[in-house]
Amino acid sequence: MTIDHAYECGEGWRPMVTKLDEKLRTLSPRYEIQQIKEKFGTLRFYAKYVAEDGASPLTREIFYDLIVAAEANSSTVCEECGRSAYLRKDLGWFKTLCAECYVKRKPRKTTASGAMDVAPWEDR
Ligand SMILES: [Zn+2]
Repeated sequence: MTIDHAYECGEGWRPMVTKLDEKLRTLSPRYEIQQIKEKFGTLRFYAKYVAEDGASPLTREIFYDLIVAAEANSSTVCEECGRSAYLRKDLGWFKTLCAECYVKRKPRKTTASGAMDVAPWEDR
């Protein structure tokens, strides 16, 4: 499967995933992408390493290490726009978003006085 067929995440992660794919191809040109999705707010990249003839067993370790590192890094990259971000846990679901995308997503309740609730960093 190609990236485009497997890709189910927001566009903000696409450059990171494309770079990961390039690195994985150099280690395992025939590797198989199974699924690329978001789970609990971070990237899940499911792929199967295919050893080339004479490949060192270490190559397989590096292959999966690169995936783990990219998945961990996804919690610092906005899934929607690619800017610096962190994992938000107060939206009712988990999502890695920058401040701007977070504010857009966050539902704002109107208080009794008619004032809008402020985002957590705005009331300090
Ligand atoms: Zn963003």
